Amino acid sequence: MDTREKIGVLGQEAAFDCEGPPQLTREERKAQFIAHSRVLVTHPQRGKMPVMRIMQTSACERNCFYCPFRAGRNYRRVSLLPEELAGAFDQMQRAKLVDGLFLSSGIINGGVKAMDAMLDTVDIVRRKYQYAGYVHLKVMPGADTAQIERAARLADRLSINLEGANEQRLQLLAPKKDYWQELLPPLYWVRQHRHQFDPWQKIPSLTTQFVVGPAGESDHELLTTTSSLYRQAGLARAYYSSFSPIKDTPFADKSKTDPLREHRLYQADWLLRFYGFELPELPFDSQGNLPLAADPKLTWAASHLRHNPVEVNRASRAQLLRIPGIGPKTADVILAARRQGRFTELHQLRQIGVQTGRAAPFILLNGRQPEYQLQLPGVSLR
Ligand code: SF4
Repeated sequence: MDTREKIGVLGQEAAFDCEGPPQLTREERKAQFIAHSRVLVTHPQRGKMPVMRIMQTSACERNCFYCPFRAGRNYRRVSLLPEELAGAFDQMQRAKLVDGLFLSSGIINGGVKAMDAMLDTVDIVRRKYQYAGYVHLKVMPGADTAQIERAARLADRLSINLEGANEQRLQLLAPKKDYWQELLPPLYWVRQHRHQFDPWQKIPSLTTQFVVGPAGESDHELLTTTSSLYRQAGLARAYYSSFSPIKDTPFADKSKTDPLREHRLYQADWLLRFYGFELPELPFDSQGNLPLAADPKLTWAASHLRHNPVEVNRASRAQLLRIPGIGPKTADVILAARRQGRFTELHQLRQIGVQTGRAAPFILLNGRQPEYQLQLPGVSLR
């Protein structure tokens, strides 16, 4: 198989078509998408950009129960040498087909060896091909400290996928991965060593990913871990990937996780990151899960604001952010507009981007409740 074919198998088609390698089934492509990330990534400054998402090798000695690349599965394995992968990336980048590299890998002969190949690839991309753009590196379980440091100096973003909400859940998903020894230390390394970076050096952002569902974890377990990583490790982003079963894996007979659960987790995650919510405020049920019927902000507002509506003309930014239909941008617009006058009618809020159908039951305008209210699906207002 020549390099071009290998690139095709390992990710080129996925990079452009959101499709997986052609020999994968639809379910396998979905799982590969989950386990090995996305084609379009969001750059902090540049927004969505096409990134070459590829694996160094699809061979793996580990046995993660959800993964199509797990050891022992009858599946064609393909590997690229660092020079091959770096050269192919350079060609595609110069042809303006991609601008950015997202590199992951299976593990053969230990995490150190797998990480070495990935680091060598990026090193060639940076030094030989002088590429200064976006590079996202997945840190391999088992990578040593010197490799984590090298990765932090080469990449713009590092991902260390916890997969499970905690040690017990990880054991049910990937018994060969070590939560405390392999996964958590790299997540904390960047914050603990940021003083070692020169002022002009960029410090990479950190992401992690969870496989949602098959380990039986609750939403509370997942969000407990992410909220502490946001606070303590400086995590930039967590990804929640709803599980989809793959044939010939130990989880082949497990049920698919409802994608709506993934959606609710992302909504709750946003409340923690951008809306000033604390974990205990989120509307978990007695099992520790978020309601599926309505988004968590609406559920919170139905029980906290229905009888204590917020006066839009006096509310602080933090209070405005609690109102459904008002986000960080619209809260800022409201604060700026209040310097010019008062809000007295719903249409004034609608004109500046507030979703008034969601906000109306929870606000006062000049001391009065708005004249009409919409019924909110999935939420009891009594
Ligand atoms: S380490 Fe686990 S998740 Fe990663 S490729 Fe190997 S089997 Fe898949």
